[in-house]
Amino acid sequence: MTTICILYPDLLGTYGDGGNGLAAVERARRRGLEAELVSVGLGDEVPDASLYLLGGGEDGPQRLATDLLRGSSFVSRVRDGANVLAVCAGLQILGMTFCVEGDDEFEGLGLVDVVTLRGERRSVGELASRVDGQLLVGFENHGGRTTLHGVDALGTVIKGRGNDGTLDGYRTKNIWATYAHGPVLAMNPWFCDEILAAVLGAELEPLTSVADQLYQERCRVLSA
Ligand code: GLN
Repeated sequence: MTTICILYPDLLGTYGDGGNGLAAVERARRRGLEAELVSVGLGDEVPDASLYLLGGGEDGPQRLATDLLRGSSFVSRVRDGANVLAVCAGLQILGMTFCVEGDDEFEGLGLVDVVTLRGERRSVGELASRVDGQLLVGFENHGGRTTLHGVDALGTVIKGRGNDGTLDGYRTKNIWATYAHGPVLAMNPWFCDEILAAVLGAELEPLTSVADQLYQERCRVLSA
């Protein structure tokens, strides 16, 4: 049984990123794989899982989620290699520091060497980046500007701002991070499959769904 775990959807669910869990579990099940979706709420222990999902959120809830995660088994699990997809606030939380509520600097979980400062203006709108030759599409809404230190970016921005107007997110051996909401795994089935394949250590047969067709249409519009 593959367990996919959404962390604090009450705090980090403002932009519907919990849909990443639904998309991942559904695409696994359509391949005949047994998968369950669990979510961690306030006061819950972080369970063992094949993939943890961190979503986006507003500044205050982001800070609270960071404190809760800092005091949980999540940090050691990720250090030991647990897989994580982190979106926006989630991306910032895993880093060294981020700014919330104005320019106040707040300590992240220190799992990835990235720093997020307050950008000059908020980044709001469509976001598209090129990731290993594929398009990753979604939307962004954040005040942070993220700098990577010796960490690979996930993608190169072709529309919108992402981390800094040039790069989006980051990629380590067990973490995928992006500024793209959507939910990003529902809007980008190939990305969902890439993460599932890595997490399960298995090749996945191709799948044709409405999500795959919509993704193709979005790419056509972006490339026109
Ligand atoms: N609070 C963070 C920021 O504004 C993250 C926002 C988000 O997750 N969309 O930068």
